[in-house]
Amino acid sequence: MNGGSDNQNIDDIGCIEAINDLYAYLDGELTDPETVAKFEHHLEHCAACYSRIELETALGRLIRDSAEENAPVRLQRRLRKLIDDL
Ligand SMILES: [Zn+2]
Repeated sequence: MNGGSDNQNIDDIGCIEAINDLYAYLDGELTDPETVAKFEHHLEHCAACYSRIELETALGRLIRDSAEENAPVRLQRRLRKLIDDL
């Protein structure tokens, strides 16, 4: 038995950096494979961030869907502020 030896070269970026990366990730601006790997690695190990990402992804989809129907920018700002206050 020699478990726990994989992924050892991936540093845990921590919650704050993960949240920072999240916005770029959702906007499709997180293009560096190493950064994406670290981001996803953190999500796999952090329940707090994982549930937050689920919420963000759902909201992001909502914003994108309603954007096609001219969703007011104010709504997007309110949602972003809502998330920041969590
Ligand atoms: Zn986290």
